[in-house]
Amino acid sequence: MKLLERIERIFALGDRIGYSEQEDEAHRIAAGWMREAGLEVEVDAARNLIGRRDDAGVWTGSHLDSVPGGGRYDGVLGVLAGIEVADRLRDARIGVVAFRAEETGPMGSRALTELPQAFVELHIEQGPVLERAGEPLGVVTGIAGQARGTVVFEGRADHAGTTPMAIRDDALVQAARFVLHVRESAREGAVATVGALSVEPNAANVVPGRVTVSVDARAPNAQQLDQLIAAIGFEPKWRLEPVAMSGAPFETLGALLPDAPRLVSGAGHDAMVLAAAGVPTGMLFVRSLNGGASHSPDELTSDEDIALAVDVLTEALARLCS
Ligand SMILES: [Zn+2]
Repeated sequence: MKLLERIERIFALGDRIGYSEQEDEAHRIAAGWMREAGLEVEVDAARNLIGRRDDAGVWTGSHLDSVPGGGRYDGVLGVLAGIEVADRLRDARIGVVAFRAEETGPMGSRALTELPQAFVELHIEQGPVLERAGEPLGVVTGIAGQARGTVVFEGRADHAGTTPMAIRDDALVQAARFVLHVRESAREGAVATVGALSVEPNAANVVPGRVTVSVDARAPNAQQLDQLIAAIGFEPKWRLEPVAMSGAPFETLGALLPDAPRLVSGAGHDAMVLAAAGVPTGMLFVRSLNGGASHSPDELTSDEDIALAVDVLTEALARLCS
């Protein structure tokens, strides 16, 4: 399949950080493939790449940038599969977009000046749910809301040798209990993570006096996110509202895959930005192998699963564009 060779071609460019030379090169190559598929190519003010036939209002696509040391499929699959679909559906009024700098924003999709009438994004799951379910494809119902903040624990810094255990006020011991509490607070599809600790004075022979703990909390809907924040007991400094997939793109994917698992995406995507802007949006996940390894060169999906995903995307767009 041409698509598989193209995925390798983009991967061979190495890291493609948003707005880097390597991302530019990926966009140049993709623009050539868009033209081969019979699309008219334009670049908008944010340097998103848009290939269209006849001012098409139904778009598919994703991003070509990567994290440092990223995998082959994240973003790239959605763009190149879109080009493949445009090639197959030569009469369809279809648009294929490669958004800029998804991993460091998303910057490109947020800066879109013209919104499509409908959007479908194919993306690798970046998690183990479909692999564990033994299912190649999943229909995304929404993208989880996120809240982030920090909690500070104050104790008293003391000599690690001379301060008896009974009279210590160890900030890291308080923080350790909190880390377990965060873990226990996440239920029913919600997830919560302490990923960073700052210990002061951070010396092997000093009882920790002050610890700052990061909290990342995510939940499928706003009510659950509120409950999770309250259960953890922290003040979010940053919050991103959950968004639901909806409208014809979501319904079409659901009709094509009535028995496929329904998933909430814990990761953000360009589709989230478009859905939040009011564009009817659907998202199709293809199974991640290797336990869902993501943002890693070990990211993997099988050629068969990709073929299946492209067939479903083709049928979905054939219906949406007609
Ligand atoms: Zn991505």
